Amino acid sequence: MKIAIFAGDGIGPEIMAQALRVLDALRLPGAVYLEGDVGGIAYKRHGHPLPEETLINARGSDAVLFGAVGDPECDNLERHLRPEQAILGLRSQLGLFANLRPATMFAGLEDMSSLKPEIARQIDLLIVRELNGDVYFGEKGTRTRDDGQREGWDMMSYAEDEVRRIAHTAFRAAQGRQKRLTSVDKANVLETSQLWRDVVVETAADYPDVALDHMYVDNAAMQLVRDPGRFDVIVTGNLFGDILSDQASMCVGSIGLLASASLGERQTAHGTFGMYEPIHGTAPDIAGQGKANPMAMILSAAMMLRHSFGRGEDAARIEAAVASALAAGVHGADLGGRASTQEIGDAVLERL
Ligand code: NAD
Repeated sequence: MKIAIFAGDGIGPEIMAQALRVLDALRLPGAVYLEGDVGGIAYKRHGHPLPEETLINARGSDAVLFGAVGDPECDNLERHLRPEQAILGLRSQLGLFANLRPATMFAGLEDMSSLKPEIARQIDLLIVRELNGDVYFGEKGTRTRDDGQREGWDMMSYAEDEVRRIAHTAFRAAQGRQKRLTSVDKANVLETSQLWRDVVVETAADYPDVALDHMYVDNAAMQLVRDPGRFDVIVTGNLFGDILSDQASMCVGSIGLLASASLGERQTAHGTFGMYEPIHGTAPDIAGQGKANPMAMILSAAMMLRHSFGRGEDAARIEAAVASALAAGVHGADLGGRASTQEIGDAVLERL
């Protein structure tokens, strides 16, 4: 189990230390850690936010555990040298095309959701978003029409192989959960979406154990806040996924609890190569003060065990330990509590 550890900037090293304590406690057989600098710290030490040595370690690993990057001292650098470029560089260099974002309501935190507690309580879903295609990557431009009006345009397209690979990722993810998959599109008006739907239906033949349904994106946005319990796994394109995944995140509350995975095509001995990171940033306002909530980082490590190493049971144990700590009132500053980074790590370890 070769795991690349890229802690990054700000609170990155503090939360990563807690995730490593959790992984150590599991005594994973043959775990090897390959450390590397990314982000502002990498720029300061090596002159680039994603140095070659780091990339070599990422390529040589089965999974990358990533903290966060971003450093106010680097805000005036040229764009390609800014810390945040490390994430984009890793995504493109490692061929990561699928973004997985779970949204789970932890017991006891319902009041922090922007939804009514009785609705928030139902949320336990995973959004699988395509990352490399769609209108974000199509040709684009501006022109002036004959009548003198300026016009902007962006080309939306998906090729069938792009849809097929994300569909496989989503079906596999659903197999590891409640075996229900909802494909979200806008097939009533977009040709791109009609092709998306056709290819998802074709792919479903390989996964007879997964129940597939389809929903238009406008309806999906409504159902996410009206009846979120109806969803298990949602698969959708880059544009719709961008919006729906942020919407789902807000439904479950704090930024310090939200993990994510970006998966590629390469299969490891027991799963899929991927990069795992919290969705929050480097929190410069609290960095170095021992106040950061490490739970999103710890939950990212759990996702890594499930998707890259086929260790769903260990992942579930970690998730249960985090849920139990939260239910017992172990709340970090992001949840209005007083528990320090170390104390939260201790509470999770005790339960593990
Ligand atoms: P942020 O997520 O770092 O912080 C937003 C707010 O949430 C802050 O008040 C912070 O203290 C709090 N917060 C975030 N994570 C927390 C945690 N684990 N525990 C407790 N509180 C937490 O977003 P920002 O302030 O907009 O960005 C700060 C830096 O991070 C910027 O340089 C930005 O570019 C970078 N950033 C990086 C990533 C990434 O690495 N994936 C993502 C977002 C932002």
